[in-house]
Amino acid sequence: MKGNRRNFLINSGLISGALLTSGISSNNFAKSFYINKKNSKMKLTFKPYTLNLKHVFTLATSSRTTTPVVLTQIEYDGLVGYGEASMPPYLGESHESVSKFLAKVDLSQFNDPFEMESILDYLDKVDALNPAAKAAVDIALHDLTGKILGKPWHKIWGLDKLKTPYTSFTIGIDTNEVVKQKVKEAEEYKILKVKLGRETDKEMIETIRSVTDKPIVVDVNQGWKDKYLALDMINWLNERNVKMVEQPMPKEMIDENAWLTEKSPLPTFGDESVQRIPDVIKAYGVYSGINIKLMKCTGLREAHKMITLAKSLNMKVMLGCMTETSCAISAVSQLSPEAEWADIDGNLLISNDPFEGIKVIDGKVTLNDEPGIGISKMIAH
Ligand SMILES: [Mg+2]
Repeated sequence: MKGNRRNFLINSGLISGALLTSGISSNNFAKSFYINKKNSKMKLTFKPYTLNLKHVFTLATSSRTTTPVVLTQIEYDGLVGYGEASMPPYLGESHESVSKFLAKVDLSQFNDPFEMESILDYLDKVDALNPAAKAAVDIALHDLTGKILGKPWHKIWGLDKLKTPYTSFTIGIDTNEVVKQKVKEAEEYKILKVKLGRETDKEMIETIRSVTDKPIVVDVNQGWKDKYLALDMINWLNERNVKMVEQPMPKEMIDENAWLTEKSPLPTFGDESVQRIPDVIKAYGVYSGINIKLMKCTGLREAHKMITLAKSLNMKVMLGCMTETSCAISAVSQLSPEAEWADIDGNLLISNDPFEGIKVIDGKVTLNDEPGIGISKMIAH
């Protein structure tokens, strides 16, 4: 199996022969992206890949053990930028749909990768949907342009790398004994995230509280259907050092979510209800803040605009992720000094990450100085 993955990555061109040898230091890594033949037109290539999850991932409505992703690269003028689409099944994109979309994308019509506004406008015209597929192009473009400039994107945006948030670490729904074990394994993380929206919500919180008093954030994933019960539950959570509530009720229950936010002692965040820029305006007055994910919003460029818009509306910003490799996680981390909350632990939940990049150290998102999106190493699987 390992050999197969290794061959797959070699054949796909995602790892050059030089990169497969161990011992490429972080400092030399950017240089190792240079390839011999100069190419003045952008060339997009992509390959499906399947992430294996360390634990079964259970939400209010489903469980799974793998996540399909598509890894992309854009070659231009001797440099390579890396990107990724991650497609949890409930969002409707798949290996097939992303591959079909990317096969239609022709970047050779553009002069250089800095024409990002035009390129991303063009992507929206290729097909209206496919946000993760578009993110895979957007992330690779950011990686590429950052490498051309020789700077990481947090620097290009003028962000203070010391202002990164702590990331929460998700404790999946499981038996009480397994939950306690997972809490112990998450010792490094300062904030725990718990998925609620089931009949066992209080039991889950009490189980965690029997072993730790760390701050908890909860994600209901639209699981509560009654606003009065939801408010009772939030009041109960507030007494147990819970700090905020993500997507408490179904996204269609706009008036009820707005009522709840007004009455709630804890900030509420829209996630399923917020995909792209127009949704930020719709979330205003309904939630205290928004959860931005690259795979929902088509990538870093739109995410950056959504942050600016949300802040201008005095809304809070949270950055989230899907189960993703360190490629997309490093990319979103570049924006993290702008966020009050971060839930960017997706790469920590998988066992076959082909990249190394931005790390979480003592629970805090810790940016590096690698140019582009912050990938420091590729690992053969
Ligand atoms: Mg969520």
